[in-house]
Amino acid sequence: MIDLKKINKYYQNEEETLHVLQDVDLHIDEGEMVAIMGPSGSGKSTLINLLGFIDKSFEGEYLFEGHAFTDWSDDALSKVRNQTVGFVFQNFSLIENNTVFENVELPLLYSGYGFHQTKKKVMDMLELVGLIGKSDKYPKQLSGGQQQRVAIARAIINNPKFIIADEPTGALDTQTSEEIMKLFVELNRKSQATIILVTHDPENIPYCSRLIQIRDGKIIEDRELSQ
Ligand code: ADP
Repeated sequence: MIDLKKINKYYQNEEETLHVLQDVDLHIDEGEMVAIMGPSGSGKSTLINLLGFIDKSFEGEYLFEGHAFTDWSDDALSKVRNQTVGFVFQNFSLIENNTVFENVELPLLYSGYGFHQTKKKVMDMLELVGLIGKSDKYPKQLSGGQQQRVAIARAIINNPKFIIADEPTGALDTQTSEEIMKLFVELNRKSQATIILVTHDPENIPYCSRLIQIRDGKIIEDRELSQ
């Protein structure tokens, strides 16, 4: 599904050129649940911005289902992004003044659904993530774990080809983190969702099918995990 070939990425600041991704080769198949670990500054965000079609200024080749996107316009790229990838962030990134229902509904409206076409889909999604009965609440009325469930429902409602979760348990306590990881595993196993998870937390690793370690912009370890 995802094929990175000899990716190099540079950032230029006033004094120097930073070589933040160095000859990265990476293949990810449909249905994998991949953990990306590495210290701060090692290039994880740069890598997921590239995988998520946010950044297209790099050297090398990114093939998604055999297509290269580097020379696409920003508009075309953001369309592909909306249809292809669901993002989950550490801080949930929900719209505070919108209800749970409205937060989860938003990607459907962006992709052209009318208001009257969204209800069943949103309710099904809330059921899937364990939030029955919460549709009229506002994010602030929910616990951190519940807010992350809303964010996950929002990320998957458009049936993305894959999910990028950037430190999704970083703001949660241990037990809630476990629950969120179990939800990702359920989505991965039941719906064959492909999940790319950036994490600092070693406790998240046993839930994943593969571990990629990155240091100084290089993949230094890439191995399958037994689940
Ligand atoms: P991580 O997500 O692993 O913490 P990043 O991908 O954010 O790492 O950063 C990798 C390196 O690139 C770091 O040295 C960081 O300072 C640098 N960097 C990231 N974004 C920029 C930018 N927009 N301009 C210049 N340097 C950047």
